[in-house]
Amino acid sequence: MRKLNDIADAILAYHPTAEIDVVFDAYFYSAKAHRNQSRKSGEAYFSHPVEVAWNLTRLRMDEKSVAAGLLHDTIEDTLATKEEIMERFGDEVCQLVDGVTKISKIQFSSKEESQAENYRKMILAMSKDIRVVLIKLADRAHNIQTLDSLSEASRYRIARETLDIYAPIAHRLGISWIKNELESGCLPHVAPEAYALIREKMERGREFRSVYVEKVCVLIEDELKESGIEGVIQGRTKQDYSIYKKMVEQNITFEEIYDLIGIRILTNSLRDCYAVLGLIHSLWKPIPGRFKDYIAMPKPNQYQSLHTTVIGPEGERIEVQIRTQEMHKICEEGIAAHWQYKEKIGHENEGSTDSRLNWVRHLIENQKDIKNPKDFLNAFKIDLFSTEVYAFTPAGEVLALPRGATPVDFAYAVHTDIGNHCHSAKVNGKPVSLRIKLRNGDQVEITSSKENSPSREWLSFVKTSKAKGKITHYINAMDKERSLKLGRELLEKVICEFGMDPSLLINEQHMGEVLQGAGVMNLEGLFLGVGVGKIAPLQIVQKLVPHEVLEARRIEGLHQVKLKEISPYKNSASPIRVKCLNEDIHLRIGKCCNPVLGEPIAGYITRARGVTVHHIDCPSVRDLGGESERLVAVEWGEEGQTRFEVRISIVAEDKPGQLAEITQAVADCMTNITRANIKQGPNKRAYFDFLIEISDLGQLDKTMSAINAVSGVIHVERIKANAGTAHRS
Ligand code: MN
Repeated sequence: MRKLNDIADAILAYHPTAEIDVVFDAYFYSAKAHRNQSRKSGEAYFSHPVEVAWNLTRLRMDEKSVAAGLLHDTIEDTLATKEEIMERFGDEVCQLVDGVTKISKIQFSSKEESQAENYRKMILAMSKDIRVVLIKLADRAHNIQTLDSLSEASRYRIARETLDIYAPIAHRLGISWIKNELESGCLPHVAPEAYALIREKMERGREFRSVYVEKVCVLIEDELKESGIEGVIQGRTKQDYSIYKKMVEQNITFEEIYDLIGIRILTNSLRDCYAVLGLIHSLWKPIPGRFKDYIAMPKPNQYQSLHTTVIGPEGERIEVQIRTQEMHKICEEGIAAHWQYKEKIGHENEGSTDSRLNWVRHLIENQKDIKNPKDFLNAFKIDLFSTEVYAFTPAGEVLALPRGATPVDFAYAVHTDIGNHCHSAKVNGKPVSLRIKLRNGDQVEITSSKENSPSREWLSFVKTSKAKGKITHYINAMDKERSLKLGRELLEKVICEFGMDPSLLINEQHMGEVLQGAGVMNLEGLFLGVGVGKIAPLQIVQKLVPHEVLEARRIEGLHQVKLKEISPYKNSASPIRVKCLNEDIHLRIGKCCNPVLGEPIAGYITRARGVTVHHIDCPSVRDLGGESERLVAVEWGEEGQTRFEVRISIVAEDKPGQLAEITQAVADCMTNITRANIKQGPNKRAYFDFLIEISDLGQLDKTMSAINAVSGVIHVERIKANAGTAHRS
């Protein structure tokens, strides 16, 4: 097992001024936390975090990352808590450990490539600090080395996940040694037969290839010497996993792979790269279409090199890579190479099409201004993929949504029907408001119900254009339907008022003139016109109903209601329904009596405002006299979130603190006071006149008894009408 001193020495070698104490402290803390645990192999568990820390030194990470590597499994697997880590190692180390723990908790379930890409993006997005990803890669690299002691099923699952998610991330970050370690470690576990075959064939040709490569290297070396170019020549063989991938992707046999032999030439300067390329092409014939200039046009992960394939001696194909030493370092270590590497690399990466990876470019470009490696690390604490957020369906699928997306956006992303009937949402098992902003890694569960439909209000918080479009479409369709229905009902109601049968009168065949007079094409147009208030129903009825019937049943008030004042939209704040109409029209609660949910009520059709709802005993309806035709029956609907204003009057002793005590008693009942009036009277009396907001009679009773119980309160009374009721003692 690797020793603490090995790790410390490694860090000090590349970062001589590192504050190494934190690594020592983390080492002993982790050793203690994991002391009674062992790995499946029987080895002490602690060997794992130590190897992870070692891998991090291979990435030349700062001391805090290495400490976090030592601690990375403590929160998840031992009794250690986040608070403890925070206290002992500070915020930065704690955030790193916590970030790794969060990623480790993600379950990867889908095998589809598009999903794998979303997982990868989610990991990068969740790791606000890129070091979290590097620690996770170091962790995975060691796990892959020690897969053998696990069951076949676990080995397959972990290897598959590594190939789908982590190796591509390592590739994306340009760290080819980790990518290669992960891939070659996983291949035997995901494709044991192919692996055995490739191994066997590679072994068989090994002798020939090594002699051949040796020969080619000597030829190139001579050629370089002659031209006075310095360079390092490396023979290389293709990675097992690359061979496997090529066989699978191109559906070819091992024998059909021609570029098993490769040569790499590392030069001292950019100019030498092209000079060497010229030499190679003059030595051997290049294969057309195989030359790639990744120096002029680097890959998105900053890989730079010249690639060519030539026909070498004895007709063997040789793949040749030519790059500078610096480019090689970037290739092997990716972003890790920039920790200390201070020169600008090659050309600007103008041509990169993968704009998602621009951030890597920015890091590299910005890096040239940064002298201190620590500052450079801070530059990595950027919000990757800040425009997107990734959330799970209950089935484990990942959806990419714009940042700020809500459960409603999520519902529409799953399916239009689920969005249109979305009723409530749970995030990570807890009920949440439909308007919350989703966070990376959230698991979202939508409950939908047939009775539910989109609300106009949703438009104020949804983020996706899909949700916006679908909601608008649904509401427009619903509005039209509702207006049609309301128009028909209003028309029928007025006809009924005259004692006639609407089904006999409303008939397209007999209404041609009436329709024309109203300026509509058909009955639907007429209903719509009435429903939205453009056409007064009485005006239509006057043409349909015989004159004498009209005269006999003339009811002034009712028919003077201006329909355009009646909103066809559902008045969602009101829990009251007008009995004779199926749709809610504009309703107002009478300020004179303020009826409360559950009390007997009556509706009064006002001339311009729709219907006002009064308490049945309210003088304004009781004393209607001849105008009783303007009364409509109303009833309470379902209990909603509506709050009612109620006026109460209190008589109390006039003493210091009295108001505070009363308002506190009201607040304790979860009741709001919306207006308060205080008057001092004779005999050391104070009169309080409050407007309070309650949801039902029960809350009113509770609030009034609470006020009554306040010391010094003499009398509490609810005021049902404005006139003549104030301040009775
Ligand atoms: Mn681990």
